[in-house]
Amino acid sequence: MSKAIVLHAHGGVDNLHWEERDPGRPGAGEALIRHEAVGVNFIDIYHRTGLYPLPALPAVLGMEGAGIVLAVGEGVTEVQPGQRVAYAGRPIGAYAEERCIPARRLVPLPDAIPTRMAAAMMLRGMTARYLLHGCYPVRQGTTLLVHAAAGGVGSMLVPWACHLGATVIGTAGSPEKREKALAAGCHHVIDYRTGGVAARIRELTDGRGVDVVYDSVGQATFMDSLDCLRPMGTMVSFGQSSGAVPPFDPGVLAARGSLFLTRPSLMHYTERREDLLAHAADLFDVVARGVVSVHIDQSWPLAQVAEAHTALESRRTTGTMVLDV
Ligand code: NDP
Repeated sequence: MSKAIVLHAHGGVDNLHWEERDPGRPGAGEALIRHEAVGVNFIDIYHRTGLYPLPALPAVLGMEGAGIVLAVGEGVTEVQPGQRVAYAGRPIGAYAEERCIPARRLVPLPDAIPTRMAAAMMLRGMTARYLLHGCYPVRQGTTLLVHAAAGGVGSMLVPWACHLGATVIGTAGSPEKREKALAAGCHHVIDYRTGGVAARIRELTDGRGVDVVYDSVGQATFMDSLDCLRPMGTMVSFGQSSGAVPPFDPGVLAARGSLFLTRPSLMHYTERREDLLAHAADLFDVVARGVVSVHIDQSWPLAQVAEAHTALESRRTTGTMVLDV
């Protein structure tokens, strides 16, 4: 028997319970893994509160982890016992010492990537990859805006975008976070708590607007983000840390210059195994070469996941974070 964080009912962090739970034996196509560390992501908060519905309760939350393969079920060819592996995405269930998971979701780790680092970077790092290559072709000459630039996704996306040759403008909610965003490579950082982001973007881009906005903040920034774009620019609304974006009239996109809008999910960009492996390989490459640094600015023991949720949702975190198992 091993232990896991179990959610019996949607709600606050008090609903997360550290309990004994049998991980079971791996069925056909599955692997049993022992986690060394587990990631904490904003989507875990949405699952806890019920903003994103879960198939059933009780449930073990968590979308990201890394560890070692203990055993594999019938027909598994992707990994073998003893191998270091990591994953990000469905099915949920990472907040556990041990778990069974479809082997096709596991990525073997190269020597250059420590297991604990992998647990902190897979979800946010592969997200940065599809945002930069899948949602908009960021390249030399692209000018982009990334909100929450000192956050988990932001702190990986910023240096990666710079490496591709983009001019990167970030927003951040405190002086300390603005320093971190600059250190990550932002060419300009805007304090978005005082407003006026669109006007500042016009100043910084000679009135043109940016090619693409990466907006994970949602409700608080969505409409202003549209005002930051050049005609035919692309709005990537990929999260809702401040709350869900209210319904709006698509005519708004025409009025602001025939804008493009996408609301993507990592799950779709990495659903096929070849896409998952391609995203992971690119991420391992930029991390191993030092293009992107993984800042594990916070960590807690898995049993104290409630503290991690509280810190993340109250805007106290920077960079990425892990739960040690
Ligand atoms: P972050 O580390 O970016 O943390 C969220 C940050 O958002 C905060 O630190 C804060 O930065 C900013 N923020 C602004 N307003 C609020 C608010 N009202 N409450 C809380 N935070 C606020 O988190 P992650 O890196 O884990 O995720 C970033 C976002 O990206 C999330 O919305 C997540 O759901 C989304 N995401 C989407 C994916 C997808 O495929 N669609 C995949 C991965 C993540 P500051 O203080 O600087 O304002």
